[in-house]
Amino acid sequence: MKVLVINCGSSSLKYQLIDSETEQALAVGICERIGIDGRLNHTPAGGEKVVINKDMPDHEVAVKLVLEELTDKTYGVIGDLSEIDAIGHRVVHGGEKFASSVVIDDDVMAAIEECNPLAPLHNPANLIGIRACQAIMPGVPNTAVFDTAFHQTMEPVAFLYGLPYECYEKYKVRRYGFHGTSHSFVSARAIELLGLDPDNSKVVVCHLGNGASISAVKNGKSVDTSMGLTPLEGLVMGTRSGDIDPAIIEYLAHNMGKSLEEIMTLLNKESGVYGLSGISSDFRDLENAAAEGNEKAQLAQDVFGYRVAKYIGAYTAAMNGVDAIVFTAGLGENNNIMREYICSYLGYLGVSIDQKENAIRSEEKVVSTADSKVKVMVVPTNEELAIARETVKLIG
Ligand code: ADP
Repeated sequence: MKVLVINCGSSSLKYQLIDSETEQALAVGICERIGIDGRLNHTPAGGEKVVINKDMPDHEVAVKLVLEELTDKTYGVIGDLSEIDAIGHRVVHGGEKFASSVVIDDDVMAAIEECNPLAPLHNPANLIGIRACQAIMPGVPNTAVFDTAFHQTMEPVAFLYGLPYECYEKYKVRRYGFHGTSHSFVSARAIELLGLDPDNSKVVVCHLGNGASISAVKNGKSVDTSMGLTPLEGLVMGTRSGDIDPAIIEYLAHNMGKSLEEIMTLLNKESGVYGLSGISSDFRDLENAAAEGNEKAQLAQDVFGYRVAKYIGAYTAAMNGVDAIVFTAGLGENNNIMREYICSYLGYLGVSIDQKENAIRSEEKVVSTADSKVKVMVVPTNEELAIARETVKLIG
């Protein structure tokens, strides 16, 4: 089967066409600046990237352009649109309605829409992408794969906040968690690679990218995760603050003379390692600056790593043990120094890193020593492949 995987943002649309037999991407690309002007980056497997500047007033036009590229004589990878068997959509928020992926019909569309208030920036964009595909490729099945679904196995003890119960019952305020497709994919792969018993395993997954979250996966099921009602909670991230004292919001609004909206922008876009360092949200920039003696750049990285280490301790407690700690996403896969720094706090667990093995980028590999009591490994994430697999399972 050939599955088109779509990840729609408010002004962007990422796509991959995946051959489910070989599990290879035939083409990858992104439409950016939808509704502004429009730019499409398209890369056929093994080929050169092409950049096309064309007006994209809305997502429907963007989808049409993607399909033109996929079937283009020079840059295309399929002869005809009929070769696309299904479309898998990443949907950010499934609330408590979706604990697994689904084939999209009118009821599913309505249920996703009901979750809009929980993810006002993301879900509406996801719906637009789905509608565009339905309009242009009628008859081709669409599936929804939710970022929140994997974490629906969390028990109330993990997902409830210490707020009046009414906030949960009436306003659905609880911890949902995100990056679920990645946590599910990476934990399953680690269990397989390490030969752990799927029904008796305790894995901590550290998804460390620009957005970062960590999960406790017991017997293959998420029992806790660091992101909450929104992706703002938990780890210190590229530009997000992660956990803070909630009283800071009122304190800063008052003292900085900012509105609630401005404070939310500060917490989401101006904080994290970017805000701490005053330099960049990208760890490569921070590493370079720190190497040149910039103390704030070093401090920002240390604050980030320390928070991850604290969460690993908390999740070890939540699962009453840990068999494996797995690093994934841009930073987790590529930054061996950060992996080593985080693990330097975990000696009490019997974690011991093999510096030579750890000197890798984006490879499936155990990076702990042979006698390390807890295995530490790197597993590159592949959310698009996971979405394609889910789609094939549903459409089959
Ligand atoms: P997101 O998908 O949340 O935007 P990514 O998973 O792409 O984020 O991760 C981005 C982070 O990963 C950046 O801070 C970047 O510095 C780091 N990163 C990505 N690739 C590399 C690399 N090859 N070497 C070192 N760091 C990298």
